[in-house]
Amino acid sequence: PASQIPRTEPALPQGVSRTTFNTAIVELTQQLGAANVELNDKPAVDNGWYMEHPNTHDMMHVTDEDALVASAAVYPSSTAEVQLIVRWANQYRIPIFPISMGRNLGYGGAAPRVRGSVVVDLGKRMSNILNIDPDDYTCLLEPGVSFYALYEAIKAKGYDHMWVDTPDLGGGSVIGNTLDRGVGYTPYGDHWATHAGLEVVLPTGEIIRTGMGALPGSNTWQAFPYGFGPVQDGLFSQSNFGIVTKMGMTLMPNPGGHESFMYAFERDSDLAPLIEIIRPLRICNVLENVAQVRSAVQTIAVQGRPRTDFFTGSGAIPQEVIDKEVSKLPCGKCAWLYYGMSYGPAYIRQYKLDAIDKEFRKIPGARKVDPQTIPRDNYFWSRDQIAAGVPDLEELLWCNWVPNGSHIAFSPVSPIRGKDAKQLMELARRRHTEHKIDLFPAFCVGLREMHLIVEIVFDKTKPEARKAAMDCMRGMVDDAAKLGYGEYRTHLALMDQVAGTYNWNDNALMKLNERLKDALDPQGILAPGKSGIWPKRYRARGWEM
Ligand code: ADP
Repeated sequence: PASQIPRTEPALPQGVSRTTFNTAIVELTQQLGAANVELNDKPAVDNGWYMEHPNTHDMMHVTDEDALVASAAVYPSSTAEVQLIVRWANQYRIPIFPISMGRNLGYGGAAPRVRGSVVVDLGKRMSNILNIDPDDYTCLLEPGVSFYALYEAIKAKGYDHMWVDTPDLGGGSVIGNTLDRGVGYTPYGDHWATHAGLEVVLPTGEIIRTGMGALPGSNTWQAFPYGFGPVQDGLFSQSNFGIVTKMGMTLMPNPGGHESFMYAFERDSDLAPLIEIIRPLRICNVLENVAQVRSAVQTIAVQGRPRTDFFTGSGAIPQEVIDKEVSKLPCGKCAWLYYGMSYGPAYIRQYKLDAIDKEFRKIPGARKVDPQTIPRDNYFWSRDQIAAGVPDLEELLWCNWVPNGSHIAFSPVSPIRGKDAKQLMELARRRHTEHKIDLFPAFCVGLREMHLIVEIVFDKTKPEARKAAMDCMRGMVDDAAKLGYGEYRTHLALMDQVAGTYNWNDNALMKLNERLKDALDPQGILAPGKSGIWPKRYRARGWEM
């Protein structure tokens, strides 16, 4: 395919001639300055790493490397410059794709959905922490503020009474992660639920503020998320209806103590009864943070060692090898591991930990692993940091499982029931066996639902490995939908398929999304295709994938 020929010129958005593109770029360069408009005219080879990733394409591409590339990246320094870029895009009908920091690895990274879009990298120059309020426990952020930066700013101010909540990897943008409905592992883990107030540039260039921010002079923008009238915030999450330039976030009070704990469960069949035990404990908040039930194989992979250290045969890694390797780790031989944290002073923790222990031990052979016996470089301590709101990067280590390791996640939502856990595991196992892929499952229990997160790790330089990963993903998405499970979030390349599973009543929800899209973005310039929402001029023209 043409896209495999190394490029020396930017990949142009379809329908925009090179002359128009060049004219448009010259004009934008004059307005933003040459340093702030960067053409992407080289082949997508510079893959960097998580903290120094390219903003021109998906560093962990599951498609052909050059398939989802930007024509250029632009760096606004203010909301006014974002407006200018949006108006420019409308004038030349050039698709633009906003990112905050583009560290959304596994979901598309910094890549746009439409090849040749201009990536609007908000994070590079709009990275101010506009406010941290030590009395209300809130903050107001720009898109370039990472979880690390927020954490460090709070520490630097000596605000020990407030905690940040961080996802598995702390280098991403608080705004980017929240808009994509990412989660963290303290009791404030549902980022979307804990945000308060947005400032948004609409696709036609107007600016709005949601909630109390719509009232001039309001001093409760971050304290009361709803304001008056319809709550519009949802329009700007996992959507292509606006560019968020500011967001408020609530911060958690320091609970006055915390303690990680880990339980090992011996048999694969312990999963279903364990999930039944977790449900009431989680809903009544005895289990206080997102409960993680991880398969033992991930404990091997997260040591950062390649799979060839353990197994060099063909097909998925055999169970005997997994059992042997897990036995050497502090958790001992087991099939599932529970990672959790209890919050508060010791006497309060003890009450909850005792209740958890009593319940978990109803599973024969359940073992609590004494943290004193776990070496400091074990992954347990990375979970301990994250559950205490301290950003960390160790989770990335399992990408070393294969050379040029990349990952993509299947993440269906289900009730917290043993029966559903079994059903999801069976369908994931069947598809992984079919495509000869190692199965890395973990269940994350939110509050009244759980996500199964299955991470496929693949060598991005091997077309057959990418194809196997994609085929496996596509199969699982369809199988899950047939059983009534839908993904909470997905990679750019799967957005059409996943959106297509939310099709109740003759696609009524997508029809509404399309009406909104056409009303808010009549020229269809903002992130066309994001979340499967295509503007009118792209619809039914074969853009879906
Ligand atoms: P992170 O660096 O936190 O992982 P990204 O910047 O990659 O987050 O953002 C994740 C996704 O959310 C992007 O692909 C984009 O579609 C959307 N997004 C991010 N920031 C914004 C924003 N400020 N306004 C609108 N959409 C955004």
